[in-house]
Amino acid sequence: MAMTRHSGPNTVCVHAAHAPDTATGALAQPIHLTTTFQRDADGEYPRGYRYSREGTPNRTALESCVADLEQGIGAAAFGSGLAAGMAVLELLRAGDRVVAPLEAYYGSLKQFAELAQRRGATVEFADFTDTAAVKAAVGSKARIVWTETPTNPLLNITDLKLVTAIGHEAGALVVCDNTFATPICQRPFEFGVDVIVHSGTKYLGGHSDVLSGVAVVRDDRAILEHLHAWQAMSGSALAPFDCWLLRRSIATLALRMRAQCAGAQRIADFLARHPAVERVYYPGLPQHRGHGIAAAQMPGGFGAVLSVCIAAGRDAAVRVAARTKLFARATSLGGVESLIEHRASIEGPGSRTPQNLLRLSVGIEEPEDLIDDLTQALK
Ligand code: PLP
Repeated sequence: MAMTRHSGPNTVCVHAAHAPDTATGALAQPIHLTTTFQRDADGEYPRGYRYSREGTPNRTALESCVADLEQGIGAAAFGSGLAAGMAVLELLRAGDRVVAPLEAYYGSLKQFAELAQRRGATVEFADFTDTAAVKAAVGSKARIVWTETPTNPLLNITDLKLVTAIGHEAGALVVCDNTFATPICQRPFEFGVDVIVHSGTKYLGGHSDVLSGVAVVRDDRAILEHLHAWQAMSGSALAPFDCWLLRRSIATLALRMRAQCAGAQRIADFLARHPAVERVYYPGLPQHRGHGIAAAQMPGGFGAVLSVCIAAGRDAAVRVAARTKLFARATSLGGVESLIEHRASIEGPGSRTPQNLLRLSVGIEEPEDLIDDLTQALK
């Protein structure tokens, strides 16, 4: 069946930019491990590929697939999520202003502070759960307004529609890091966001084995051209095998996300009632302060990362992480296996994360088994 504009998420995940190989009939796309492509006798490249830094068939397939999922005009795949963010920040010129959230993935915050400033741009951090604070920080002119929702690790929710309107009024490009939500839960382009970035390392890859990033463009061809030119100029594009792995994993993205979101909700409900737990951060809980916005903005689910503060403090939190058997003690998130992490210690000096906070990435294991594991670890 041909895919249509109205195809459901599983159909898009399986069929987007995917067709049997015309040369061999192979159903799975071949991996084109070549750095260079042959010219025709007339010196032309009628198949569109010259040299792999500029583009490869596997990269084209992955980029078209993610663009279809997010419903943008195109995408650019990079060697990591931060490389995708960096490609967007390359748009900054001296004197430009970036407005970014006070609380977000610490690597992105570091990137804004160091990179933008090195370039002579200024960065203003604001509380993105407070649209009045965002409006004040954006002021009358800004080049980039960067959002991340839900945030890493406090699961803060930004109202994408309101913040995008504020950014556009000031002439800014509005970017959304959609890593935690994925296009299965949240479609930032529906709220007017201009560029979406993903750490493909997380849910798109889904198996904790591919470091990758993707930037997707809603409708601005000049920005898409900038991203593709930056891939070729910087050599930071994703390699063919990694593109193939990511595209293969996306086939099960909707299935995985739905199972992981359902598991996370059950675990959040369980932890919210547990006496050893001081606080749970998960937008699917009615008591989460962004729950109302998240319910409207994330029709596909509330994501599968949650954070929890342990009542007895930092050392007790570290001991809980030491006792889990199914949850692996490791950083990162979005894979099929559940992970637990003492977040402040990986963020290091300057971290704003509470010392008694553990971040949980819920995988696809049975939620009952994960709850049993947490029950024994919290004893
Ligand atoms: N954005 C978010 C929300 C993240 O959680 C991460 C990594 O944890 C990144 C971006 C950076 O991605 P990568 O590690 O692939 O560079």
